[in-house]
Amino acid sequence: MTHPRQERTLIIIKPDGVQRSLVGEMIGRFERIGLKIVGMKMMLAAPDHVEAHYTLDPQWRVKTGEKSIKSYKDRGENHPHGDDPVVVTGIILDKLRDYMASGPVIPMVLEGAHAVSIVRKLVGSTEPLSSDVGTIRGDFVLDSYTMSNDDERAVRNLIHASGSVAEAEQEIRHWFTEEEVAGYRHIQEGIIYDDLDHILGK
Ligand code: GDP
Ligand code: MG
Repeated sequence: MTHPRQERTLIIIKPDGVQRSLVGEMIGRFERIGLKIVGMKMMLAAPDHVEAHYTLDPQWRVKTGEKSIKSYKDRGENHPHGDDPVVVTGIILDKLRDYMASGPVIPMVLEGAHAVSIVRKLVGSTEPLSSDVGTIRGDFVLDSYTMSNDDERAVRNLIHASGSVAEAEQEIRHWFTEEEVAGYRHIQEGIIYDDLDHILGK
């Protein structure tokens, strides 16, 4: 049994996050909430590696297409790519592969209590137009499904974050070797998790 504080999640600062000089701003938000960085690197991702990342979850094509179609339905409009979620996602994935491989990205493994949900909350929802103010996607970027679909490109939303614990485990293995992820104790865990032995160095 692992303790909740050992939950891990994967984030990837996307090429627009690097180019917009928001790397420090984003990492700062994860650090200040109390998450521990246990893996981090900058790399150029191969298009096939990006496609494999997004299709690790066999349901991702259906879920992503449905989310996109629903955003149009909610406004009383039809999706420009039709009403089959798998077809809609196929078009998105083509663009997403190019976008994610267009420049350096920064994959990172973050550890801490409820890491997956806490990070999704800080990152905000997929479409910046409707992401809450105070989230990374709500505060730093202004894209929308309609504009990006009309312009035939992936939504610019600065960062990827795992959607569930199971997804995080698969994604961490996809981007990092075991040696690249560091297990270590951070001094602030003593205060956050009331681990006094840790504070006293026992
Ligand atoms: P996330 O988990 O919030 O990143 O969202 P998804 O896993 O559903 O989609 C992955 C990425 O594909 C998003 O972060 C966007 O960059 C892009 N994307 C998702 N849905 C759409 C869409 O409907 N249109 C366009 N143009 N891009 C999309
Ligand atoms: Mg996702």
